[in-house]
Amino acid sequence: MNQPLSNFQMRDAEALLHPYTDAVALRTTGAQIVDRGEGVRVWDQSGRSYIEAMSGLWCAGLGFGNAELVEAARVQMERLPYYHLFSGKSHDTAIELAEKLKAMTPGQMARVFFQSSGSEANDTQIKMAWYMNNALGRPQKKTIVSRKKAYHGTTLATASLTGLPGNHTDFDLPMPGIRHLSTPHFWKEAQEGESEEAFVARLAAEFEALIEAEGAETIAAFIAEPVMGAGGAIVPPMGYFPAMSAIARKHDILTITDEVICGFGRTGEWFGAETVGFEPTSMSMAKQLTAGFVPLSAVAINGEMAEALEANSGKIGTFGHGFTYGGHPVGCAVALKALEIYERMDMPRVVQAMSPRFAAHLKSFEGHPLVGEGRSLGLMGALELGPNGRREGFAKPGKVGAKMVGELKDRGIIARAVVDSIVFCPAMTITEAELDEVFGAVGPALDATLDWAKAEGHI
Ligand code: PMP
Repeated sequence: MNQPLSNFQMRDAEALLHPYTDAVALRTTGAQIVDRGEGVRVWDQSGRSYIEAMSGLWCAGLGFGNAELVEAARVQMERLPYYHLFSGKSHDTAIELAEKLKAMTPGQMARVFFQSSGSEANDTQIKMAWYMNNALGRPQKKTIVSRKKAYHGTTLATASLTGLPGNHTDFDLPMPGIRHLSTPHFWKEAQEGESEEAFVARLAAEFEALIEAEGAETIAAFIAEPVMGAGGAIVPPMGYFPAMSAIARKHDILTITDEVICGFGRTGEWFGAETVGFEPTSMSMAKQLTAGFVPLSAVAINGEMAEALEANSGKIGTFGHGFTYGGHPVGCAVALKALEIYERMDMPRVVQAMSPRFAAHLKSFEGHPLVGEGRSLGLMGALELGPNGRREGFAKPGKVGAKMVGELKDRGIIARAVVDSIVFCPAMTITEAELDEVFGAVGPALDATLDWAKAEGHI
């Protein structure tokens, strides 16, 4: 039985259209209206507290209260609340942040371009790759290669890169010129008896075959998240990215690492590409760049790309791309402070120290009748649910996952279901006790979900 909706829930349903939400169901369930946050917790309007085990949308890596970030925003707002980077304008905060990102990122990044969101960053990546290849006199080199279950955003082009059917259905997507390779999820996708090495070799051969079939002269870039986030916290075999990078390099195909979730310590190194051995020619960053406090994203490109882009803009008199809020001074000021905090804490080391406990918790549920795999890298991970742990999943996908998230919510934990993968991405500052509290709720939530799944015929 659903509770009657509160005043705010009724007003919400009348006034808002929510992203990634069943608008019809919301009229009976009501939105969870979050009121305030502190540390790893948020409070809803009824005063109930929850551990936010997803850092919101994988972004509040320092939790929900931080006086230093607030002060950095306040000081910047007083001094220069807005300026832009168009037509030769600049400001010191953007310059300092770009220098900082150049120094931190792997792969000798040479220039930084700012936007506000992850989608805008990846849209920029596509436009840069196309613009560069036009400038280099190879206008046919345009196809972008992504993967099934990838998540790169929701603009027309980035929703096309995203490899999730829900982002394509009824939006007339994907656009032409986008390809999706197989998901590097060994547990779910490996063939009977296939070793991890053979699995990687098969996926690499699939990439080679695509290049062979379409011609390297038509393929501009390969884009990938080091760990797939919104596809279900899917950790690739460690041989996968070195193999894919080598193929791309051989065929003069750009390698774009989407660090929107994986950046800034999340995987135990500063960037996910470093953890998984991906050699990028360019990088997309957002979310934890500002610890989620204000919107800001960044694209970093290597020297070769920068040279081609700059030379062409000189030739035609402009680089005709940019966003009003790209490099917003408040975003840049908060990002600089967030990076200072990450460095002071040595965030990759913090994540490395906590991640064995996180991994052990997830693994400990592998014997449960509802759990197939407990996987993680750094402090992002998932429990893959399936009937008696079977990897082919439930006959009605998503129902059991949604029930499990509801059971966790009733126990004061906010997690998220990607179909039937229950994903976790807590603040990187989470304590051992808080982590134990999250997973202390998972066992009873699984048991309650199991009883329900049996009663409803899902298992
Ligand atoms: N890339 C990745 C890896 C993401 O996880 C997301 C958002 N979840 C995006 C891009 C898109 O970012 P935004 O929602 O800020 O447009």
